[in-house]
Amino acid sequence: MSKSLQAIRGMNDILPEQTPLWRYFESTVARLLDNYGYKQIRMPIVEFTELFKRSIGEVTDIVEKEMYTFEDRNGDSLTLRPEGTAACVRAVLEHGLTGAGQPQKLWYIGPMFRHERPQKGRYRQFHQIGLEVFNIDGPDIDAELIVLTWRLWGLLGIRDAVKLELNSLGTSESRGRYKVALVEYLSAHLDKLDEDSQRRLKTNPLRVLDTKNADTQAVLVDAPKMADYLDDESRIHFEGLKARLDAAGIPFVINTKLVRGLDYYSKTVFEWVTDKLGAQGTVCAGGRYDGLVEQMGGKPTTGVGFAMGIERLILLLETLEKVPEEISRQVDVYLCAFGEAAELAALALSEKVRDQLPNLRLQVNAGAGSFKSQFKKADKSGALYALILGDDELAQQVIGFKPLRGQGEQQNIAFDALAAHLATCVVQG
Ligand code: ATP
Ligand code: MG
Repeated sequence: MSKSLQAIRGMNDILPEQTPLWRYFESTVARLLDNYGYKQIRMPIVEFTELFKRSIGEVTDIVEKEMYTFEDRNGDSLTLRPEGTAACVRAVLEHGLTGAGQPQKLWYIGPMFRHERPQKGRYRQFHQIGLEVFNIDGPDIDAELIVLTWRLWGLLGIRDAVKLELNSLGTSESRGRYKVALVEYLSAHLDKLDEDSQRRLKTNPLRVLDTKNADTQAVLVDAPKMADYLDDESRIHFEGLKARLDAAGIPFVINTKLVRGLDYYSKTVFEWVTDKLGAQGTVCAGGRYDGLVEQMGGKPTTGVGFAMGIERLILLLETLEKVPEEISRQVDVYLCAFGEAAELAALALSEKVRDQLPNLRLQVNAGAGSFKSQFKKADKSGALYALILGDDELAQQVIGFKPLRGQGEQQNIAFDALAAHLATCVVQG
Protein backbone atom coordinates (compact mmCIF):
# COMPACT_ATOMS: atom_id res chain seq x y z
CA MET A 1 0.00 0.00 0.00
CA SER A 2 1.25 3.50 -0.75
CA LYS A 3 2.01 5.84 2.09
CA SER A 4 -1.05 7.89 2.98
CA LEU A 5 -0.98 11.48 1.85
CA GLN A 6 -0.39 14.05 4.52
CA ALA A 7 -0.08 17.80 4.84
CA ILE A 8 3.40 19.21 5.37
CA ARG A 9 4.46 19.34 9.00
CA GLY A 10 3.65 22.72 10.51
CA MET A 11 1.14 23.54 7.76
CA ASN A 12 -2.36 23.04 9.07
CA ASP A 13 -5.79 22.52 7.64
CA ILE A 14 -8.34 24.78 9.23
CA LEU A 15 -11.31 22.45 9.54
CA PRO A 16 -15.00 23.33 9.20
CA GLU A 17 -15.50 23.26 12.96
CA GLN A 18 -12.74 25.86 13.34
CA THR A 19 -13.62 28.22 10.51
CA PRO A 20 -16.49 30.01 12.31
CA LEU A 21 -14.00 31.24 14.91
CA TRP A 22 -11.54 32.32 12.22
CA ARG A 23 -14.25 34.18 10.36
CA TYR A 24 -15.48 35.83 13.53
CA PHE A 25 -11.95 36.96 14.31
CA GLU A 26 -11.20 38.13 10.78
CA SER A 27 -14.46 40.00 10.35
CA THR A 28 -14.08 41.69 13.74
CA VAL A 29 -10.64 42.96 12.73
CA ALA A 30 -11.74 43.94 9.22
CA ARG A 31 -14.66 45.98 10.54
CA LEU A 32 -12.45 47.69 13.10
CA LEU A 33 -9.84 48.61 10.49
CA ASP A 34 -12.51 49.96 8.14
CA ASN A 35 -13.74 52.13 10.97
CA TYR A 36 -10.27 53.56 11.57
CA GLY A 37 -9.82 54.35 7.89
CA TYR A 38 -7.36 51.65 6.83
CA LYS A 39 -7.50 50.22 3.31
CA GLN A 40 -6.83 46.62 2.45
CA ILE A 41 -4.04 45.64 0.07
CA ARG A 42 -3.41 42.11 -1.27
CA MET A 43 0.06 41.07 -2.31
CA PRO A 44 1.27 37.82 -3.91
CA ILE A 45 2.41 35.03 -1.64
CA VAL A 46 5.64 34.55 -3.60
CA GLU A 47 8.25 37.25 -4.28
CA PHE A 48 11.83 37.42 -5.53
CA THR A 49 14.17 36.21 -2.77
CA GLU A 50 16.18 39.40 -3.15
CA LEU A 51 13.26 41.44 -1.78
CA PHE A 52 13.42 39.74 1.61
CA LYS A 53 17.20 39.74 1.79
CA ARG A 54 17.28 43.46 1.14
CA SER A 55 14.47 44.46 3.47
CA ILE A 56 14.57 42.03 6.38
CA GLY A 57 18.36 41.89 6.51
CA GLU A 58 20.82 39.10 5.75
CA VAL A 59 21.77 38.53 9.37
CA THR A 60 18.34 37.76 10.81
CA ASP A 61 16.83 34.46 11.86
CA ILE A 62 14.29 34.71 9.06
CA VAL A 63 16.74 35.20 6.21
CA GLU A 64 19.48 33.01 7.66
CA LYS A 65 17.42 29.94 8.37
CA GLU A 66 13.66 30.26 8.03
CA MET A 67 12.81 31.06 4.44
CA TYR A 68 11.21 28.72 1.92
CA THR A 69 13.36 29.55 -1.07
CA PHE A 70 13.35 27.73 -4.39
CA GLU A 71 14.23 28.16 -8.00
CA ASP A 72 11.35 28.37 -10.43
CA ARG A 73 11.44 27.06 -13.99
CA ASN A 74 13.06 30.26 -15.24
CA GLY A 75 15.90 29.86 -12.79
CA ASP A 76 14.71 32.80 -10.68
CA SER A 77 15.15 32.50 -6.94
CA LEU A 78 11.74 32.92 -5.33
CA THR A 79 10.64 32.82 -1.71
CA LEU A 80 7.32 32.16 -0.01
CA ARG A 81 6.80 35.35 1.95
CA PRO A 82 7.88 35.04 5.60
CA GLU A 83 6.18 38.33 6.53
CA GLY A 84 4.16 41.08 4.88
CA THR A 85 6.01 44.35 5.29
CA ALA A 86 8.59 43.75 2.54
CA ALA A 87 5.99 42.90 -0.08
CA CYS A 88 3.78 45.77 1.03
CA VAL A 89 6.61 48.27 0.64
CA ARG A 90 7.48 46.74 -2.73
CA ALA A 91 3.86 47.13 -3.88
CA VAL A 92 3.62 50.68 -2.55
CA LEU A 93 6.78 51.66 -4.46
CA GLU A 94 5.86 49.79 -7.61
CA HIS A 95 2.49 51.53 -7.82
CA GLY A 96 3.57 54.92 -6.55
CA LEU A 97 1.13 54.83 -3.63
CA THR A 98 3.28 57.13 -1.51
CA GLY A 99 4.53 59.35 -4.33
CA ALA A 100 4.49 63.09 -3.51
CA GLY A 101 4.64 62.14 0.15
CA GLN A 102 1.00 61.22 0.51
CA PRO A 103 0.04 59.22 3.58
CA GLN A 104 -1.20 55.65 3.25
CA LYS A 105 -2.87 53.54 5.91
CA LEU A 106 -2.89 49.94 4.68
CA TRP A 107 -3.65 46.48 6.02
CA TYR A 108 -3.36 42.95 4.74
CA ILE A 109 -4.19 39.43 5.81
CA GLY A 110 -2.84 36.11 4.69
CA PRO A 111 -0.53 33.16 5.14
CA MET A 112 3.18 33.56 5.88
CA PHE A 113 5.83 30.84 5.69
CA ARG A 114 8.80 30.19 7.94
CA HIS A 115 10.77 27.00 8.36
CA GLU A 116 10.72 26.89 12.17
CA ARG A 117 10.30 24.04 14.63
CA PRO A 118 6.53 23.44 14.74
CA GLN A 119 4.98 23.57 18.21
CA LYS A 120 1.97 25.10 19.90
CA GLY A 121 1.62 28.65 18.56
CA ARG A 122 4.48 28.22 16.09
CA TYR A 123 3.88 26.82 12.62
CA ARG A 124 5.50 26.77 9.21
CA GLN A 125 2.48 28.21 7.48
CA PHE A 126 0.78 30.69 9.76
CA HIS A 127 -1.46 33.70 9.24
CA GLN A 128 -1.02 37.34 10.01
CA ILE A 129 -3.05 40.47 9.86
CA GLY A 130 -0.69 43.36 9.33
CA LEU A 131 -0.95 47.15 9.18
CA GLU A 132 1.49 49.52 7.54
CA VAL A 133 1.30 53.31 7.61
CA PHE A 134 3.48 55.47 5.37
CA ASN A 135 4.38 59.14 5.44
CA ILE A 136 3.05 59.93 8.89
CA ASP A 137 6.04 60.47 11.12
CA GLY A 138 4.61 61.69 14.44
CA PRO A 139 3.92 59.59 17.50
CA ASP A 140 0.18 60.14 17.00
CA ILE A 141 0.06 57.36 14.44
CA ASP A 142 2.23 55.01 16.52
CA ALA A 143 -0.31 55.62 19.26
CA GLU A 144 -3.25 54.95 16.92
CA LEU A 145 -1.83 51.55 15.98
CA ILE A 146 -1.65 50.62 19.64
CA VAL A 147 -5.01 52.17 20.53
CA LEU A 148 -6.81 50.22 17.84
CA THR A 149 -5.27 46.94 18.91
CA TRP A 150 -6.32 47.75 22.48
CA ARG A 151 -9.86 48.27 21.17
CA LEU A 152 -9.63 44.94 19.36
CA TRP A 153 -8.62 43.16 22.56
CA GLY A 154 -11.66 44.80 24.14
CA LEU A 155 -14.00 43.60 21.39
CA LEU A 156 -12.59 40.09 21.73
CA GLY A 157 -12.75 40.15 25.53
CA ILE A 158 -9.03 39.46 26.07
CA ARG A 159 -7.73 42.76 27.46
CA ASP A 160 -6.92 41.25 30.84
CA ALA A 161 -4.72 38.61 29.24
CA VAL A 162 -2.37 40.82 27.22
CA LYS A 163 0.34 43.26 28.20
CA LEU A 164 1.95 45.97 26.11
CA GLU A 165 5.75 46.17 26.05
CA LEU A 166 7.35 49.23 24.57
CA ASN A 167 10.82 50.45 23.65
CA SER A 168 12.51 52.97 21.42
CA LEU A 169 15.43 51.93 19.23
CA GLY A 170 16.28 55.51 18.35
CA THR A 171 17.41 56.66 14.94
CA SER A 172 20.00 54.70 13.02
CA GLU A 173 22.64 57.24 14.18
CA SER A 174 21.81 56.92 17.87
CA ARG A 175 21.52 53.18 17.50
CA GLY A 176 24.94 53.16 15.84
CA ARG A 177 26.46 54.96 18.85
CA TYR A 178 24.71 52.57 21.21
CA LYS A 179 25.94 49.57 19.27
CA VAL A 180 29.55 50.69 19.67
CA ALA A 181 29.09 51.01 23.44
CA LEU A 182 27.30 47.67 23.69
CA VAL A 183 29.91 45.82 21.64
CA GLU A 184 32.68 47.35 23.72
CA TYR A 185 30.99 46.26 26.95
CA LEU A 186 30.09 42.76 25.77
CA SER A 187 33.53 42.17 24.27
CA ALA A 188 34.99 42.73 27.73
CA HIS A 189 32.76 39.89 29.00
CA LEU A 190 33.09 37.63 25.99
CA ASP A 191 33.90 34.47 27.98
CA LYS A 192 30.60 34.76 29.90
CA LEU A 193 28.41 34.95 26.81
CA ASP A 194 26.70 31.90 25.33
CA GLU A 195 27.88 30.72 21.94
CA ASP A 196 24.94 32.16 20.02
CA SER A 197 25.44 35.57 21.60
CA GLN A 198 29.16 35.49 20.82
CA ARG A 199 28.25 34.97 17.20
CA ARG A 200 25.59 37.68 17.26
CA LEU A 201 28.01 40.10 18.85
CA LYS A 202 29.84 40.03 15.53
CA THR A 203 26.88 39.87 13.15
CA ASN A 204 23.97 41.68 14.85
CA PRO A 205 24.93 42.81 18.36
CA LEU A 206 21.54 44.23 19.36
CA ARG A 207 20.07 40.74 19.09
CA VAL A 208 22.19 39.71 22.08
CA LEU A 209 19.75 41.78 24.16
CA ASP A 210 16.94 39.33 23.60
CA THR A 211 18.89 36.24 24.52
CA LYS A 212 17.14 33.58 26.59
CA ASN A 213 20.45 32.41 28.10
CA ALA A 214 20.62 33.10 31.86
CA ASP A 215 24.38 33.71 31.98
CA THR A 216 24.24 36.19 29.15
CA GLN A 217 21.22 37.85 30.76
CA ALA A 218 23.28 38.28 33.93
CA VAL A 219 26.02 40.02 31.94
CA LEU A 220 23.42 42.30 30.39
CA VAL A 221 22.25 43.66 33.74
CA ASP A 222 25.11 46.16 33.81
CA ALA A 223 25.31 46.72 30.05
CA PRO A 224 24.84 50.23 28.60
CA LYS A 225 21.15 51.11 28.19
CA MET A 226 19.69 52.11 24.85
CA ALA A 227 17.57 54.78 26.56
CA ASP A 228 20.75 56.64 27.53
CA TYR A 229 21.79 56.87 23.91
CA LEU A 230 18.58 58.17 22.37
CA ASP A 231 18.94 61.41 20.45
CA ASP A 232 16.52 64.27 21.18
CA GLU A 233 14.37 63.50 18.14
CA SER A 234 13.76 59.92 19.27
CA ARG A 235 13.33 60.88 22.89
CA ILE A 236 10.68 63.49 22.05
CA HIS A 237 8.93 61.03 19.76
CA PHE A 238 8.92 58.37 22.46
CA GLU A 239 7.65 60.81 25.11
CA GLY A 240 4.88 61.82 22.71
CA LEU A 241 3.84 58.22 22.29
CA LYS A 242 3.83 57.51 26.02
CA ALA A 243 1.78 60.67 26.70
CA ARG A 244 -0.82 59.53 24.18
CA LEU A 245 -1.04 56.04 25.63
CA ASP A 246 -1.51 57.58 29.07
CA ALA A 247 -4.23 59.85 27.68
CA ALA A 248 -5.98 56.83 26.16
CA GLY A 249 -5.66 54.92 29.43
CA ILE A 250 -3.61 52.09 27.93
CA PRO A 251 -1.22 50.44 30.40
CA PHE A 252 2.27 49.63 29.16
CA VAL A 253 5.66 48.61 30.44
CA ILE A 254 8.99 49.78 29.06
CA ASN A 255 11.17 46.84 28.10
CA THR A 256 14.64 48.13 27.25
CA LYS A 257 15.64 44.71 25.94
CA LEU A 258 12.92 44.70 23.31
CA VAL A 259 14.77 44.89 19.99
CA ARG A 260 12.62 42.84 17.57
CA GLY A 261 14.04 40.30 15.17
CA LEU A 262 14.14 42.35 12.01
CA ASP A 263 16.81 44.84 11.01
CA TYR A 264 14.57 47.56 9.72
CA TYR A 265 13.07 49.02 12.90
CA SER A 266 13.81 52.48 14.31
CA LYS A 267 12.30 54.53 17.14
CA THR A 268 9.14 52.79 18.40
CA VAL A 269 9.02 49.03 18.83
CA PHE A 270 6.29 47.22 20.72
CA GLU A 271 4.88 43.79 21.46
CA TRP A 272 1.61 42.61 22.91
CA VAL A 273 2.42 39.56 25.00
CA THR A 274 0.38 37.08 26.97
CA ASP A 275 1.41 34.58 29.62
CA LYS A 276 -1.49 32.27 28.71
CA LEU A 277 0.12 30.51 25.75
CA GLY A 278 3.42 29.26 27.12
CA ALA A 279 6.57 30.10 25.22
CA GLN A 280 4.81 31.53 22.15
CA GLY A 281 3.52 34.57 24.03
CA THR A 282 3.78 37.40 21.51
CA VAL A 283 0.45 37.87 19.77
CA CYS A 284 1.15 41.15 18.00
CA ALA A 285 4.38 42.95 17.29
CA GLY A 286 5.61 45.91 15.34
CA GLY A 287 7.30 49.23 15.21
CA ARG A 288 8.57 52.11 13.18
CA TYR A 289 10.81 51.61 10.15
CA ASP A 290 11.62 55.07 8.88
CA GLY A 291 14.60 53.99 6.80
CA LEU A 292 13.16 50.94 5.08
CA VAL A 293 11.49 52.48 2.05
CA GLU A 294 14.62 54.38 1.12
CA GLN A 295 16.73 51.30 1.72
CA MET A 296 14.50 49.52 -0.77
CA GLY A 297 15.05 52.14 -3.42
CA GLY A 298 12.25 54.62 -2.73
CA LYS A 299 12.29 58.25 -1.70
CA PRO A 300 12.66 58.89 2.04
CA THR A 301 9.29 57.73 3.41
CA THR A 302 8.53 57.06 7.04
CA GLY A 303 6.72 53.87 8.00
CA VAL A 304 5.23 52.20 11.02
CA GLY A 305 3.33 48.94 11.30
CA PHE A 306 2.64 45.74 13.11
CA ALA A 307 1.53 42.18 12.49
CA MET A 308 -0.58 39.95 14.68
CA GLY A 309 -0.44 36.19 14.59
CA ILE A 310 -3.94 34.87 13.98
CA GLU A 311 -3.27 31.31 15.21
CA ARG A 312 -2.00 32.61 18.56
CA LEU A 313 -4.99 34.90 19.00
CA ILE A 314 -7.38 32.07 18.12
CA LEU A 315 -5.59 29.87 20.67
CA LEU A 316 -5.94 32.64 23.23
CA LEU A 317 -9.68 33.00 22.59
CA GLU A 318 -10.08 29.25 23.03
CA THR A 319 -7.88 29.11 26.12
CA LEU A 320 -9.77 31.94 27.78
CA GLU A 321 -13.11 30.52 26.61
CA LYS A 322 -13.93 33.75 24.81
CA VAL A 323 -15.48 32.08 21.77
CA PRO A 324 -18.96 33.59 21.38
CA GLU A 325 -21.55 30.82 21.39
CA GLU A 326 -23.64 32.13 18.52
CA ILE A 327 -20.83 31.99 15.94
CA SER A 328 -21.02 28.26 15.50
CA ARG A 329 -24.73 28.21 14.61
CA GLN A 330 -24.84 28.66 10.86
CA VAL A 331 -28.36 27.56 10.01
CA ASP A 332 -31.57 29.39 10.91
CA VAL A 333 -34.08 27.17 9.17
CA TYR A 334 -33.90 23.60 7.83
CA LEU A 335 -36.41 22.53 5.22
CA CYS A 336 -37.47 18.85 5.05
CA ALA A 337 -39.38 17.64 2.00
CA PHE A 338 -40.87 14.18 1.44
CA GLY A 339 -41.41 12.80 -2.07
CA GLU A 340 -40.67 14.09 -5.54
CA ALA A 341 -43.62 16.50 -5.81
CA ALA A 342 -42.88 18.05 -2.41
CA GLU A 343 -39.18 18.39 -3.28
CA LEU A 344 -40.03 20.32 -6.44
CA ALA A 345 -42.40 22.61 -4.57
CA ALA A 346 -39.85 23.05 -1.77
CA LEU A 347 -37.20 24.17 -4.22
CA ALA A 348 -39.45 26.79 -5.79
CA LEU A 349 -40.66 27.96 -2.41
CA SER A 350 -37.22 28.17 -0.84
CA GLU A 351 -35.85 30.23 -3.72
CA LYS A 352 -38.78 32.61 -3.41
CA VAL A 353 -38.11 32.98 0.31
CA ARG A 354 -34.42 33.66 -0.40
CA ASP A 355 -35.47 36.42 -2.83
CA GLN A 356 -37.41 38.07 -0.04
CA LEU A 357 -35.00 37.36 2.81
CA PRO A 358 -31.52 37.46 1.28
CA ASN A 359 -29.79 37.03 4.64
CA LEU A 360 -31.83 34.07 5.82
CA ARG A 361 -29.67 31.04 6.49
CA LEU A 362 -31.91 28.40 5.01
CA GLN A 363 -30.69 24.88 4.45
CA VAL A 364 -32.80 22.68 2.21
CA ASN A 365 -32.49 18.95 2.85
CA ALA A 366 -30.62 17.18 0.07
CA GLY A 367 -30.47 13.43 -0.45
CA ALA A 368 -34.11 12.71 0.46
CA GLY A 369 -34.50 10.39 3.47
CA SER A 370 -37.23 9.26 5.85
CA PHE A 371 -39.06 11.62 8.15
CA LYS A 372 -36.88 10.46 11.00
CA SER A 373 -33.57 10.89 9.20
CA GLN A 374 -34.41 14.34 7.80
CA PHE A 375 -35.54 15.46 11.19
CA LYS A 376 -32.34 14.27 12.74
CA LYS A 377 -30.35 16.27 10.19
CA ALA A 378 -32.49 19.34 10.87
CA ASP A 379 -31.78 19.08 14.56
CA LYS A 380 -28.06 18.45 14.06
CA SER A 381 -27.75 21.45 11.77
CA GLY A 382 -28.36 23.69 14.75
CA ALA A 383 -31.36 25.31 13.03
CA LEU A 384 -33.89 27.11 15.18
CA TYR A 385 -36.82 25.94 13.04
CA ALA A 386 -37.70 23.07 10.74
CA LEU A 387 -40.01 23.46 7.78
CA ILE A 388 -41.91 20.33 6.79
CA LEU A 389 -43.40 19.69 3.38
CA GLY A 390 -45.15 16.42 2.49
CA ASP A 391 -48.04 15.49 0.22
CA ASP A 392 -50.70 16.63 2.74
CA GLU A 393 -49.16 20.09 3.17
CA LEU A 394 -48.60 20.38 -0.57
CA ALA A 395 -52.28 19.71 -1.27
CA GLN A 396 -53.22 22.61 1.02
CA GLN A 397 -50.37 24.88 -0.14
CA VAL A 398 -49.05 25.17 3.40
CA ILE A 399 -45.82 24.21 5.08
CA GLY A 400 -45.29 22.86 8.58
CA PHE A 401 -43.33 25.22 10.80
CA LYS A 402 -41.75 23.54 13.81
CA PRO A 403 -39.64 25.29 16.46
CA LEU A 404 -36.69 23.02 17.27
CA ARG A 405 -35.40 24.77 20.37
CA GLY A 406 -38.59 24.90 22.38
CA GLN A 407 -39.99 28.25 21.30
CA GLY A 408 -43.73 27.67 20.68
CA GLU A 409 -45.99 25.17 18.93
CA GLN A 410 -45.86 23.61 15.50
CA GLN A 411 -48.20 25.29 13.04
CA ASN A 412 -49.00 25.39 9.33
CA ILE A 413 -48.09 28.50 7.34
CA ALA A 414 -49.45 29.30 3.89
CA PHE A 415 -46.75 29.33 1.17
CA ASP A 416 -47.44 33.00 0.50
CA ALA A 417 -47.06 33.96 4.13
CA LEU A 418 -43.88 32.01 4.82
CA ALA A 419 -41.28 34.74 4.18
CA ALA A 420 -43.18 37.25 6.28
CA HIS A 421 -43.53 34.73 9.09
CA LEU A 422 -39.81 33.84 9.04
CA ALA A 423 -38.93 37.52 9.09
CA THR A 424 -40.66 37.85 12.44
CA CYS A 425 -38.91 34.96 14.13
CA VAL A 426 -35.39 34.88 12.73
CA VAL A 427 -33.00 37.72 13.56
CA GLN A 428 -31.18 38.45 10.36
CA GLY A 429 -27.50 39.44 10.41
P1 ATP B 1 8.59 35.03 17.62
O1 ATP B 1 9.50 35.81 18.50
O2 ATP B 1 7.46 34.39 18.34
O3 ATP B 1 9.33 34.10 16.70
P2 ATP B 1 8.64 37.02 15.56
O4 ATP B 1 9.29 38.19 16.21
O5 ATP B 1 9.44 36.16 14.68
O6 ATP B 1 7.91 36.13 16.67
P3 ATP B 1 7.08 38.69 13.80
O7 ATP B 1 7.92 38.49 12.63
O8 ATP B 1 7.12 39.98 14.49
O9 ATP B 1 7.32 37.49 14.84
O10 ATP B 1 5.56 38.34 13.43
C1 ATP B 1 4.45 38.97 14.08
C2 ATP B 1 3.59 37.96 14.78
O11 ATP B 1 3.30 36.85 13.95
C3 ATP B 1 4.21 37.33 16.01
O12 ATP B 1 4.07 38.17 17.11
C4 ATP B 1 3.39 36.08 16.15
O13 ATP B 1 2.14 36.36 16.77
C5 ATP B 1 3.15 35.69 14.72
N1 ATP B 1 4.12 34.65 14.30
C6 ATP B 1 5.40 34.81 13.93
N2 ATP B 1 5.95 33.63 13.59
C7 ATP B 1 4.98 32.70 13.74
C8 ATP B 1 4.93 31.29 13.54
N3 ATP B 1 5.96 30.61 13.08
N4 ATP B 1 3.75 30.64 13.82
C9 ATP B 1 2.69 31.32 14.27
N5 ATP B 1 2.67 32.64 14.47
C10 ATP B 1 3.81 33.34 14.22
MG1 MG C 1 10.37 34.31 14.92
